[in-house]
Amino acid sequence: MPEFEGLYIGGRWVPPAAGDRIVQISPLTEQPLGVAPAASNADMDLAVAAARKAFDEGPWPRMSVEERIAVLKRVRDLYADRAAGIAELITAEMGCPSSIAGLLQVGYPVQVIDYYVELCRSWEFEEKRGHSIVRQVPVGVVAAIVPWNTPHSTFTVKLAPALLSGCTVVAKPSPETALDGLVLAEIFAEAGVPEGVLNVVPAGADSGEYLVGHPGVDMVTFTGSTAAGSRVGSICGSAIRRFSLELGGKSAAVILDDADIPSVVQGLRFASFLNSGQVCTNQTRILAPKHRYTEVVEALCEMVSTMTVGDPADPATEVGPLVSQRQRDRVERYIAIGEQEGAKIAAGGGRPSSQPTGWFIEPTVFCDVDNSMTIAQDEIFGPVVAVVAYDDDDHAVEIANDSRYGLGGGVWTADVERGIDLARRIRTGQVSINGADNEVVAPFGGFKQSGLGRESGPEGLLGYLETQSVFCPD
Ligand code: NAD
Repeated sequence: MPEFEGLYIGGRWVPPAAGDRIVQISPLTEQPLGVAPAASNADMDLAVAAARKAFDEGPWPRMSVEERIAVLKRVRDLYADRAAGIAELITAEMGCPSSIAGLLQVGYPVQVIDYYVELCRSWEFEEKRGHSIVRQVPVGVVAAIVPWNTPHSTFTVKLAPALLSGCTVVAKPSPETALDGLVLAEIFAEAGVPEGVLNVVPAGADSGEYLVGHPGVDMVTFTGSTAAGSRVGSICGSAIRRFSLELGGKSAAVILDDADIPSVVQGLRFASFLNSGQVCTNQTRILAPKHRYTEVVEALCEMVSTMTVGDPADPATEVGPLVSQRQRDRVERYIAIGEQEGAKIAAGGGRPSSQPTGWFIEPTVFCDVDNSMTIAQDEIFGPVVAVVAYDDDDHAVEIANDSRYGLGGGVWTADVERGIDLARRIRTGQVSINGADNEVVAPFGGFKQSGLGRESGPEGLLGYLETQSVFCPD
C-alpha cells in the first residue's frame, strides 16, 4: 500500500502540521488503497512562504530560460521513465481504464513539457518597441488547484508554462488523487528543482480556499467545477489577484443529417464515454436530426451494450468505476431526475450486476430529452448521454448554444467543410470535427460559465506573464 508521510514544501518532506491523513479508497474494491498527508491552513502558510522566498530571493526567476529548460527536461525524462507505474497508480486511485491511461493520464504530460520547452526556447521575453523595452516577466507565486479526473495532465499544463516563465508554484492535488500528486513532487525533487520552486500539498476544499485567499499568492490557476470556480473567482476578484478558471461543460455532439451513424457512434464511444464519462469536454448531449432520431438512439444503445465494464486495470475495460461513492450518488441522482422530468432510459441506468463491489454505473442513454431538462443542462460527469432531436442546422446550433456552459462540442458529418462551417457558429472554446483530438499547440478553455483564460498553446504561457514597459530616453 503506497504511503506518504510528508508534504513537499521548501524542497523537504514535511509532516502535516495538524497530523491529518487522507486514506484513499479504491473505487474498485472500496478498500483502503494508500495513505497520504493532508495539508491544513498552517501547511498552506508554510508552502506559500517557501514559494514566496524562492520567487523573491531564490535563483529560479533569475536563471536564464535555458537553465530552467534544462531542469524541465530532466523532469520530462524522469517522468517518461516512470510513466507506466504512474498510469497504474492513477488507474488504481481514480478508476481510469488502463486502456486509455497511457495517453490521457501520462502521455499528455510528456507532450506538454516537450511543447513548452520548445516554445520557450524561441519566445521573446523582451523586445524593443519605439524607445521602450517591453518585457514579459513571471507573474510570481502561483497556486495551482486541480481535480482528480486527469490529475497529471491538468497539473503539467499549468506547471510547465508557469515554471519555465520563472514563477514558483504551490500545487494542490485533489484528495482523491493525493498519492499521484506526491509522486509528481518526487519527480520534480529528483530533477533538482531548487527548493521552494514547487510545493505539493494535497488537501480538501477548505484548505484549497484558504490557499486561494492567501495574500502571498500572486495568481491562482484553477481547474474544477463551475461552483467552486465561481467562489475562487470572487475571492481573487476582491483581492485583484490574477486568476484563470477551467471549469465544467455540457458539450453537444451535433450529428449532421449526412453522417454515417454507425461510424459516428463508434466515435462517440470515446468522445462521450472517455474516462467513464469523467472528462470535462465529453460530448454528453447528442443532437440528432429528427428524421434520423430513432436510428441514432438505436445505434447508441447497440454500441453501449458492447462496452466492456469492469476492473479498470484490465486492458479490455472501457468503462471503469466512478472515482468515489459521492460521484456515483451524484450520477444516480441525475438519472432519477431525468426519469422524473419525463426522459426515457433507452439503455443502462443502473449498477452493473456483474460488479459486486466498486462505484460503477452502466453506460446510459437517455432518449426523449428536451434540451431544457436538467439532464441536458447540468454536467453529470459520468457515463450518461442525453439524445435531443433537432429540425435543421439552424435549430441544431440554437440547441448546442442553449447552455450556460461553453467548453467543448463536436460536429459529425460526411462533409468536413460543412462541419467546420457549423463549428464556427458554436459558442464554445473548442469544437472537434468527427472526433478529432485536442492538441497541445491549440489553446484550450471555456466560453461562458466554462471558464476564463486559456491553457495550452502560446496562450497558456501568456497567462503566467506580466508585461512591463521600460521607457528609455532616446
Ligand atoms: P471540484 O470543483 O469539487 O474540485 C476541484 C479542485 O478544487 C479540488 O482539488 C478541490 O479540492 C478544490 N476545491 C473545491 N472547492 C474549492 C474552493 N472553494 N476553493 C479552492 N479549491 C477548491 O471539482 P471535482 O468534482 O473535483 O472535478 C470535476 C469538475 O472539474 C467537473 O466540473 C469538470 O468539468 C471540471 N474539469 C474541468 C476541466 C477543464 O479543463 N475545463 C478539466 C477537468 C475537470
